[in-house]
Amino acid sequence: MSCIFCKIVSGEIPSAKVYEDDKVLAFKDLEPQAPVHVLIIPKQHIESMAAITPENSAVVAHIFEVAAIIAKENGLENGFRVVSNCGESAGQSVMHLHFHLMGGRDFGWPAG
Ligand code: 5GP
Ligand code: ZN
Repeated sequence: MSCIFCKIVSGEIPSAKVYEDDKVLAFKDLEPQAPVHVLIIPKQHIESMAAITPENSAVVAHIFEVAAIIAKENGLENGFRVVSNCGESAGQSVMHLHFHLMGGRDFGWPAG
């Protein structure tokens, strides 16, 4: 398996973990775009949001529960942003579903 996020799940590639349970892993982004920038991923390999089906969608709800926990732990009561880039046009560079949780600064809208 050549997927770098699967290698982070297996421990083959080290990461700065901030949350882990049997379904989900969250770790700090290597190139943070905000003071808090955490990636939340399913341990199961799912390519992107475009590959979400009734069979695997429960993990997405769980990821959003985890996002709320991590936001609270990091004191992001003023707000935060959760983003999933899906596909080439959106700039997805790692083809394993992930959600960017970013906070600690103000964000513009619409995003570029
Ligand atoms: P995407 O561009 O697919 O939306 O997001 C991929 C993210 O993964 C990028 O923000 C990038 O900095 C991060 N990233 C890529 N490789 C690694 C890695 O090996 N470790 C960590 N912690 N983050 C990574
Ligand atoms: Zn993977």
